[in-house]
Amino acid sequence: MKKIGVLTSGGDAPGMNAAIRAVVRKAIFNNIEVYGIKNGFQGLIEGNIEKMDIGSVGDIIQRGGTILHSARCKEFKTDEGQNKGIEQMKKHGIEGLIVIGGDGSFRGAVKLTEKGYPCIGIPGTIDNDIAGTDFTIGFDTALNTVIEAIDKVRDTASSHERTFIIEVMGRNAGDLALWAGLADGAESILIPEKKDELHDVVERLKRGQERGKKHSIIVLAEGVDNGFNYAEKIKETADLETRVTVLGHLQRGGSPTASDRVLASRLGAEAVDLLLDGKAGKIAGIQNNQLVNHDISEILQKKHTIDLNMYQLSKELSI
Ligand code: ADP
Repeated sequence: MKKIGVLTSGGDAPGMNAAIRAVVRKAIFNNIEVYGIKNGFQGLIEGNIEKMDIGSVGDIIQRGGTILHSARCKEFKTDEGQNKGIEQMKKHGIEGLIVIGGDGSFRGAVKLTEKGYPCIGIPGTIDNDIAGTDFTIGFDTALNTVIEAIDKVRDTASSHERTFIIEVMGRNAGDLALWAGLADGAESILIPEKKDELHDVVERLKRGQERGKKHSIIVLAEGVDNGFNYAEKIKETADLETRVTVLGHLQRGGSPTASDRVLASRLGAEAVDLLLDGKAGKIAGIQNNQLVNHDISEILQKKHTIDLNMYQLSKELSI
């Protein structure tokens, strides 16, 4: 293999730039040419492709977002769209592709691999919702952003003796809410992996009030409910007033943490090694701090599992 491509796709995540840098530098180190594809699969279809050199990835390891930009592209879900992408790869002589993104992006990578263009996936999403890897790039940074925000809300909650519901991202996964809730000593954590906790939340609030507690933090994963709906439910069930903070897109931005930069550098380099070893349709991940790889198609059929011991611990520590 002499020429490879790299793109970022789907939702952006802090650390994607560090991964791009690792891919580009590791490839050049191995005398491979690297082409950056802008705007994900949309840019692949349109031929928005540029050769990268060592300098193109200088000074980006610390930057959030993605210098290659990201996009969602419906056309790429069709045979026709995928064939247009392949035409562009042929035109530029690109023999293999590294796709940095989430599960949707990996479906595109599987399609290209099936059509004879080897792809390797790197999990880049703040949601930590990909099976086969303990962590995705961006999760640690988003977690730290959430914690900082909750700390600030807690100051107000405590000054004004209020209960706050903090809605955090994560799509259908509860990792971000669980880790943030545990790290912040939240009174209740609501995650999609554990349904129907309203009764428990209300009981905890009441118990807290009985023993003189004046404020509480409830961390709610967006996959469970919308914060304002949930506040309504608490009001209807127990006549308790809560305030809602929806953290929103600020969770996706910012300079990546050391952990995310290191993870991105390791996975980026590993993805290049996998392509050079002749592997195709694999995802590079990390498990027990060891680099691993799995078939993307297998991973897409599995669900990332949450650590229920951590969930139990959060309950025990916030009695
Ligand atoms: P994420 O990668 O963060 O999960 P999306 O689900 O939006 O984000 O997927 C990103 C892009 O991947 C889509 O816009 C589309 O171009 C491509 N994609 C998603 N699903 C498929 C599919 N089944 N086949 C081909 N490409 C897909």
